Amino acid sequence: MVLGRKWPGFLPTLFILFFAVNILFVMHVKHEMQSLRREPGGHREQQALDSAKENDFVGHLEKIEALFLNLSNYIKLSEGKKKAANELNLPEKPHQEIQEDQQGKENRKEPEAPPRMRFPDSPLFQRWGKDLMEDQQIVAQKLFDKYGYNVYLSDRLPLERPLKDTRPPRCREKKYSHDLPTISVVLIFFNEATSIILRAITSIINRTPSHLLKEIILIDDFSSNEELKGPLEEHIKKFNDKHPGLLKIVRHEERKGLTEARISGWRASLADVVAILDAHIEVNTNWAEPILSRIKEDHTVIISPVFDNIRFDDFQLTQYAEAADGFDWALWCLYETIPEDWYALKDQTAPIRSPSIMGILAANREFLGKIGVLDGGMHIYGGENVELGLRAWLCGGSVEVLPCARIAHLERAHKPYLPDLSLAVRRNALRVAEVWMDEYKHMVYYAWNVPLENSGIDYGDVSSRKELRKRLNCKSFDWYIKNVYPNLVPQVNIVGYGTMKNTLSKENCIDQGPVPGNTPILYVCHGYSPQHMFYHSTGEFFVGGLRSRRNTVDRCLTDSGEGKLPVIEQCDEAQRKGLNMHWDFMQGLSVINRKTKRCLEIAKDHGSPYYILVMQNCTGQKWFIQNTVKQWGKQP
Ligand code: UDP
Ligand code: MN
Repeated sequence: MVLGRKWPGFLPTLFILFFAVNILFVMHVKHEMQSLRREPGGHREQQALDSAKENDFVGHLEKIEALFLNLSNYIKLSEGKKKAANELNLPEKPHQEIQEDQQGKENRKEPEAPPRMRFPDSPLFQRWGKDLMEDQQIVAQKLFDKYGYNVYLSDRLPLERPLKDTRPPRCREKKYSHDLPTISVVLIFFNEATSIILRAITSIINRTPSHLLKEIILIDDFSSNEELKGPLEEHIKKFNDKHPGLLKIVRHEERKGLTEARISGWRASLADVVAILDAHIEVNTNWAEPILSRIKEDHTVIISPVFDNIRFDDFQLTQYAEAADGFDWALWCLYETIPEDWYALKDQTAPIRSPSIMGILAANREFLGKIGVLDGGMHIYGGENVELGLRAWLCGGSVEVLPCARIAHLERAHKPYLPDLSLAVRRNALRVAEVWMDEYKHMVYYAWNVPLENSGIDYGDVSSRKELRKRLNCKSFDWYIKNVYPNLVPQVNIVGYGTMKNTLSKENCIDQGPVPGNTPILYVCHGYSPQHMFYHSTGEFFVGGLRSRRNTVDRCLTDSGEGKLPVIEQCDEAQRKGLNMHWDFMQGLSVINRKTKRCLEIAKDHGSPYYILVMQNCTGQKWFIQNTVKQWGKQP
């Protein structure tokens, strides 16, 4: 309206100039903010905290930038851009007026420049979206921020799409009995995109034998997206018109987190076997038959299907190698090497014995109930998978990964519902430690750098889970480590752990320094894992977090005896090479290398106001480590 045809001809040019200058200014400030956010250093957790605040500011700038851009588009709108602009719901009439105005120029057909990348640093646009117009990029980025995956693309892909068959070739030759147990498939969701859920349902219907698929149960964990309410019910109705009674939906009346959502799915299920899946999956060819026939053979096996990855940006399928599922002492799940005896079988289709599960699972419904389904005391995310893995092994069952049962799972770029997963995982991990890990539970406390007593973390009531353990007469964690998960190495000699400060400079901590690299430094204390130290009664100092699995070695502090800097070496190598890796240290005293007799101290270079970490002749400097074990380091 404002830009009517009657305006003098030079005015639009002036406007464009004005907007261009503003866009450049806003982009410059935003770019500066983003480059600040990417400052170097190995401190990812700290960056995550800082970036939350900066995101706010950058977000505002993006809005202003988008506003300017919309306005400038408003002026120079061309035929090719009309569709994109419509997606932003720009008013209709001015478009037409401007188009008429510009008709003459359009006919000259200058070659189109490729669209400018609006979000060159966004993970969404690294491989995908190079041909999107700027306005489309804004729409796609907004959806990506909201969901952590490419909803713009998902909404444009068919629900029914072919997937590469990623099974080992011999799976294709397997014959499965017609007479298998029936299956209920549970999909849990909290604010997932509708097209994603519909594609999951479609893949399940298309790739599961209909005589075995009893039902698909949707669990809505109190989503707030409107389209997941009435509109989703409409879709369910359409599916049920074709497949009577197949789809069910259970809605939580408050947000309960993924563990409770999985339990609700189990509770609602009626078939012999229940598969509990994320909502952003597509099941692959013949996924169900291997699961159902294995559970028919042995109803006490909990199955972890093999994940392949649907890339969050272009939705291409990446095949993952088969692996066992394990965890570290913080109880983050991870992939483990397959046990030797599996290779000896020379059968790619054979089940892989697995210490734990990743999350998605299938099990005999009754057996899962008998051993306590999942721990409903878990909050939001994490820990529940390790808890089930342990409980299965300790209480009369086992866990297996089936190479022929493949599920494509969309790994998000970020979790929109919880920017920092670690608080939930830490709390839930302490529950697992307290209920299941006996004398090894300290390892979880060390890994999270939490004091053994009065941690201040409320992990909830675990009494009913302890009772369950007793009632089921479950084995000990010691048995589990020795028989099921020997790759997990307990550290029995740790006497002090956490950050380390020198009394001369209390705001600074020992830090593992730049990675890759092997020079520890003094750095402003932030308390995240690069600053976690572990002192052993046997004299070793681990630096920068606790790995403690046989195939990932911890890093040890050493003194080469030469030069003035301490050196970090892999502990196993340090031991093999006989490096000087043992230290005398007591709480509040000096850190003295047992061989070189030099001390780990801090010093200022000539004229510099800053302390650095050095090896030098002892001057009696004192160090404190954050947490101590039992009586070590305590005043008598
Ligand atoms: N989810 C839920 N409630 C929550 C958080 C997540 O129901 O509070 C659902 C989510 O929609 C997804 C599943 O739980 O279907 C697993 O979450 P996610 O995919 O984020 O975790 P992953 O296990 O893949 O890391
Ligand atoms: Mn998931």
